[in-house]
Amino acid sequence: MQTQEKAAPGWDIVGHEHAIEILRRTLQAEQVRHAYLFTGPPHIGKTLLAQRFAQALLCTGGPDMHIAPINPCNVCLSCRKVRHGNHPDIHLVARAADKQAILIEQIRELQSDSARKTLEGRRNIFIIQNAHEMNVQAANCILKTLEEPEQDVVLLLTVPDGGLLLPTILSRVQQISMQLLTTLQIKNALTHRWHLETQEAGLIAALAAGRMGWAIQAVEKEELLAERKEQLELLTKLPMAGKMQRFEIAQRLSADADTLETTLELWLLWWRDIVLAAHGCLDLTVNVDMRDALKVHAAKIGAHAAQNMVRMILRTMELIAQNVNARVALEVLMLDLPTIQ
Ligand SMILES: [Zn+2]
Repeated sequence: MQTQEKAAPGWDIVGHEHAIEILRRTLQAEQVRHAYLFTGPPHIGKTLLAQRFAQALLCTGGPDMHIAPINPCNVCLSCRKVRHGNHPDIHLVARAADKQAILIEQIRELQSDSARKTLEGRRNIFIIQNAHEMNVQAANCILKTLEEPEQDVVLLLTVPDGGLLLPTILSRVQQISMQLLTTLQIKNALTHRWHLETQEAGLIAALAAGRMGWAIQAVEKEELLAERKEQLELLTKLPMAGKMQRFEIAQRLSADADTLETTLELWLLWWRDIVLAAHGCLDLTVNVDMRDALKVHAAKIGAHAAQNMVRMILRTMELIAQNVNARVALEVLMLDLPTIQ
């Protein structure tokens, strides 16, 4: 007899009860649609939920095995293949690291795969990660599949916000919206499932700012927290730095395109915290281990300038996403950064 494999805790979904309930009812009523859209901020588990749903759709364990929410049995051959990431009927489509967009060639490949019979007989499932990264040609091409889907094809799309997709696509998918988790939900998951010490779990949960995926990364990649600390120390020094030093930092940051987005996200949280601290809401800040520094900076910079900085960072992120020269964008940001003597 097969025993249930003990999975890594990261495979379990924390929270998102509402989204799970919608999918569970779909499965129970056997009214699976051809396309679902998972929406919500980055790192909250959209792809994970899509994968779990795919697993449930392909599970051969039988309905009596479905006990909890969208519980695939985890035991049948199909389930085990999904968990090991090698089920032939689940296809992941995402932007290649060296490309600007999801390209039409990728969608054409999806279409030729979906016209083929499923390899193991149930459904042909395509997960399109960050579907808003499809360029116009690719988006128009996927419409064809959405308008006339093959019988057993299920498309699972993820995006941060439904508004980023063409209305013609939106009208053909069922939206499953996912929200940020509470700090407590994340903290509890970290202490109970990952067996972290309460204090460490508390810090990571606060820093995760509602994103379970980020919390898991911080647990799995120890250097992530050390890097964050280093980055924050740099941030606390920036308002005292002169123009030359600021430009040097802009150059250094822009040279590392891979980490730039994460760095700016961290900056955003830092400056948001200064706004909160300046309004006397220190207890709502995310960087719980840096509250002394936040208090000092808030007193010197003030809410108005800090708020302006939040806007400037958002604008910089937007510009970089639109392929504006990162170094130039960062230099402008550096000049706007408030000065403390
Ligand atoms: Zn199964």
